[in-house]
Amino acid sequence: MGEPTLSGLMMDEYPLSLTAVVERAELLTPERKVVYRRPDCNVHRTTMGDCVRRARRLAAALAELGIKEGDRMGTLMWNQPEHLEAYYGVPAMGAVVHTLNPRLHPDELAFIAADAEDRAIIVDETLVGVLDSFRGAHDFEHVIVVSHSGKVPDGVIDYESLIDRGQPMEWPAPDERRACAICYTSGTTGRPKGVLYSHRALVLHSFMACMPDQMNMSMCDTVLPVVPMFHANAWGIPYTATMVGASLVLPGPHLDAESVLDLLAAEKVTLTAGVPTVWMAMLKAIEAEPDRWDLGNLHRLLVGGSAVPRSMIEGYQKHGLFIIQGWGMTETSPLASTSSVPPELADAPDEEKFDYRARQGTPAPFVDIRARGDDGELIPWDDKAMGELEVRGPWVAGAYFGGTGAEKFTGDGWFQTGDVVKINQHGCIRITDRSKDLVKSGGEWISSVDMENLLMGHPAVAEAAVIAVPDEKWDERPMAVVVLKDGAEATLDDLREHLSSHFAKWQLPERVEFIDEIPRTATGKFKKIALREQFVKAPV
Ligand code: ADP
Repeated sequence: MGEPTLSGLMMDEYPLSLTAVVERAELLTPERKVVYRRPDCNVHRTTMGDCVRRARRLAAALAELGIKEGDRMGTLMWNQPEHLEAYYGVPAMGAVVHTLNPRLHPDELAFIAADAEDRAIIVDETLVGVLDSFRGAHDFEHVIVVSHSGKVPDGVIDYESLIDRGQPMEWPAPDERRACAICYTSGTTGRPKGVLYSHRALVLHSFMACMPDQMNMSMCDTVLPVVPMFHANAWGIPYTATMVGASLVLPGPHLDAESVLDLLAAEKVTLTAGVPTVWMAMLKAIEAEPDRWDLGNLHRLLVGGSAVPRSMIEGYQKHGLFIIQGWGMTETSPLASTSSVPPELADAPDEEKFDYRARQGTPAPFVDIRARGDDGELIPWDDKAMGELEVRGPWVAGAYFGGTGAEKFTGDGWFQTGDVVKINQHGCIRITDRSKDLVKSGGEWISSVDMENLLMGHPAVAEAAVIAVPDEKWDERPMAVVVLKDGAEATLDDLREHLSSHFAKWQLPERVEFIDEIPRTATGKFKKIALREQFVKAPV
């Protein structure tokens, strides 16, 4: 293949970089507000322009500490302005922002920080304990602490003093293919895998995310991401909001229903996003006190990360609140599909619209989908056949950091999602199952396989299988099915205690069933479908 016969004559070399996104905000929308509810619940008000100015100083100071282009820079923070400053400054200086999830077990955090080779970390003072739990296992050259109390532990750098001493950095010339951020996903088996985003991918993702059938975000919006900034780029909201010049409300660590509702009402938020667990609790609070919060400005709630129950979509609608379901993965930056109702259904009865919106939706422009059945053949789009969803597109991972998990990528340029779907004739997907062996609880993953392996390491346990059981609040919870060794005894508490060596407390199962034998498939794998049928009541 030579040159195209007639090349376009546009400035195709203009880089699609986050640097341009940040510079635009600084130049054109510096007065947009950034509101932050601090851990002590006091509200702090700043602006997007101020965050960019501070990001320039942060970048200069990091460069002085020796952080170079391509280096990974960890963060352990809530949704807070300093996190936004790292989102801006680290990629714009050419380095890679690595958002660590404080809810993970210390062993997992240590692995992730080491795998990414994080050179330094910025940590909120409320999360210093989390950092201390794994700091011994990974040597950060610099620890920078964001302190609200004014007290900074010995041996670390104070964020404010660091910013004060930096001269504003002139950003280096951007390259759209350069890495800008990294997030880890929990693996079904084995260790978490790094998804290394490029500037180009996140810029294109932002263009898509603000479109009307996706988040429908404009400069007139005030956006509150409940989804944490340590989860898949907070679904792209920080960069999308910055690109369009929307205001941001950052809720900090308090994500209980009342705190979020107070903030949504007080700041006249128009658009918000998070996992179903959060919205389930909020719906209960709204139903208990329908007149307490004025949510008249809120025009859209993007809900995803796990299936959104139809009853939730309906429940919110009764209060005039519109949920749109999104589907995506860390590997897809993450937004890949949304369930906006098409014009063909405009006059359909509400029931039909609710059914449609309970699906995971149609892929965004530039996201291609297909699904493959058990026989290895692509399934027809008839809404009957089931297969594992595969995706490709400019903001979909093409490989994992360090080359692990290569089996997830097909030889012909598609990524295998591990989600089992039906696809209707209009390309609208419905997730019916997961081929990946994981439990997703409150938006966070628990590896069934890791839990089984650890349980089988307990002296009293012969065999153990872990399945996901539906839970109204958390969507799913892990349940262990255990076969004890002859004559051996163990209680739920014994097993929880044993598991706590590698699992965080919230990941431990509340329920263990002891049985004589775990059913197996012809190939000798645990027959989890049979276990689910035996122990899980069908969800209503
Ligand atoms: P995120 O941080 O966006 O939740 P993850 O990579 O942790 O991303 O999880 C992605 C997985 O979450 C998907 O492969 C799918 O199993 C599940 N998921 C995401 N959105 C939905 C949804 N709307 N409905 C059902 N499952 C979903």
